[in-house]
Amino acid sequence: MDFAEFSRICEHLEGLSGRLEMIAEIASVMPSLSDDELPVFVRFVMGRVFPDWSPLKLGIGPNLLYDAVAYVVGKKREEVVRSVSGNGDVGRAVEMLLASKSQTSFFSESLDLTGVYGDCRRIAETEGSKSQREKLRIVRGLFSNAGPLEGRYLARLLLEELRIGVGEGNVRDAVAQAFSVDASLVAHAHQALNDLGEVALLARRGEDALRDVRIEPFRPVKMMLAQQGTIAEMVTDHGAVAVEYKYDGTRFQFHRVGDECRVYSRRLEDVTAAVPDVIEALSGAVAGDVILDGEVIAIKDGRPRPFQFVLRRFRRKHEVEEAIGRVELVPNVFDILYLDGETLIDRPFSERRRILEETLASSVAPQWVSDDSSVLEGIYADALTAGHEGVMVKALDSAYTPGVRGRNWIKVKPAVDTLDLAVIGAEWGEGRRAHIFGSFLLACQREGELLPVGKVATGFSDEQLAAIHETLRDLVIAEKGKEIVLEPTIVFEVGYAEIQQSPNYSSGFALRFPRFVRMRQDKSVDEVETVEGMQGRYDRQFRSV
Ligand code: ATP
Repeated sequence: MDFAEFSRICEHLEGLSGRLEMIAEIASVMPSLSDDELPVFVRFVMGRVFPDWSPLKLGIGPNLLYDAVAYVVGKKREEVVRSVSGNGDVGRAVEMLLASKSQTSFFSESLDLTGVYGDCRRIAETEGSKSQREKLRIVRGLFSNAGPLEGRYLARLLLEELRIGVGEGNVRDAVAQAFSVDASLVAHAHQALNDLGEVALLARRGEDALRDVRIEPFRPVKMMLAQQGTIAEMVTDHGAVAVEYKYDGTRFQFHRVGDECRVYSRRLEDVTAAVPDVIEALSGAVAGDVILDGEVIAIKDGRPRPFQFVLRRFRRKHEVEEAIGRVELVPNVFDILYLDGETLIDRPFSERRRILEETLASSVAPQWVSDDSSVLEGIYADALTAGHEGVMVKALDSAYTPGVRGRNWIKVKPAVDTLDLAVIGAEWGEGRRAHIFGSFLLACQREGELLPVGKVATGFSDEQLAAIHETLRDLVIAEKGKEIVLEPTIVFEVGYAEIQQSPNYSSGFALRFPRFVRMRQDKSVDEVETVEGMQGRYDRQFRSV
């Protein structure tokens, strides 16, 4: 498929508002694509380049993109920046700039989908001191072969934000429609593989291929998540349930095949090099090739430390040995997803637990099973006394559903109202903070779209604001006076006094007295609060407790 054709499809999709029309359009394209093109198309149309689990990251910031476009259109970088600010959208700006390009290169070749993907791979694989220059060279090459409309979608794709309103849900349904397979099988395979591109290839082979989906070591699986709830409702719904401590650490996944072990973070990044102590604790204790799920906590001077200690280590690339001396990381394993070639995620939790206990000699998180609420409440009280965040209550007959925040896992902890929201914009500070960002526009999500809920400007120390500025300044997409549009990659946890309904923000909600609590560097933007979640919190405010 030519990239020009892909761009026309994107333009058409951008103009559609109905979900069903959108799904039908995407589904109509898929059957005619080759096996090489299909996974690329599926990811590109969602604004993604690589599967979520892949270690490959494109890592093109707006600045590199502006430099490449400036070169291709023969303008100064500042002019490109001005044009993007004026348009409020990098895609439209690049389209206009390419349209006004006075001279087209005589050597221009047409771009095709797999060729663009190949260039993206080369960009992601470029390493070393000259990598920026090499990336710039490849991106320039892409834009010099792009027409105006291609430029619009190429620019957005390279920043991994296509803005055509196509989310995972739409593409999942389109895959089912395109190959006439059951949508729930597509959803199940997607949970396991964490890549709709590959799921589309399985769907083309038929329902049996989807049913037979396997997970594989060294290909991290999205973590199963929990909803908030109470012990009493879990006992009412399920009878006997499993209860474990809710550790205040960081989620991790441990993969082992033979002598090779890898550890992945909640965002599925490979953090193996930073955590030799975790590897040592687990590799000696495990029999067989496994994928384990757990929470790692930090211990310093014999005492558990808050989860930021773990994160600091997860991000460490150098002087790991020295860091281990100061803070020890202790894994607590509570699930097993794979053993010696067998995928276990569809087995009931009670069976997975038995296998886990047979497979791992130490580091297994303690668990209690009971149908007596008062016994379970006693364990909850003990957990809080011991300094844990609370307890996790789990349904014994439940499958492991990767990436799903369902009601089979319930977290019980003392009520503190905080929200995880995406940072989508900023404003310059005032007075002594005039040289850094001082207030931040936050958003929740609906079907992959980020919708504003208001600004947060309090709760920061000067050091925190300076550190946040450092992180965000490379993410600036456009600047209009004091208003700065940011590439949404950072998540803030914020406290608030109340959620209000508001016509001022497209989410329909606003926060009263928002206050910054911390950056959630372990979370990605697709994990922020949903509009339904906001609605639930809003409704609960009116319920007497
Ligand atoms: P929170 O902000 O409350 O930690 P979260 O949004 O980070 O929540 P949730 O899915 O809501 O994540 O809560 C579950 C998290 O609790 C898991 O992701 C995991 O990191 C942590 N956790 C601690 N102990 C356990 C346990 N025994 N079983 C499962 N998860 C646990």
